[in-house]
Amino acid sequence: MNITKIFAGLLCIGYMACHTPQATSTSGTTGNTETVKKDQYQCPMKCEGTKTYDTIGTCPKCKMDLVKLKK
Ligand SMILES: [Zn+2]
Repeated sequence: MNITKIFAGLLCIGYMACHTPQATSTSGTTGNTETVKKDQYQCPMKCEGTKTYDTIGTCPKCKMDLVKLKK
């Protein structure tokens, strides 16, 4: 019989059980990303005047990449 080995194993399981919930609780902050204000994008040549887009992409007229507007 090796009591110390069994005891060490139980101690290890107890350690894991105590610390795993703490690790998962910290990941709950990831839901805050949806509250971030949407970025606005605009054609660098302003083909469509001051028209802005809320997603990055390309200008439908000059096909240039839209640039992010500074707040
Ligand atoms: Zn354009």
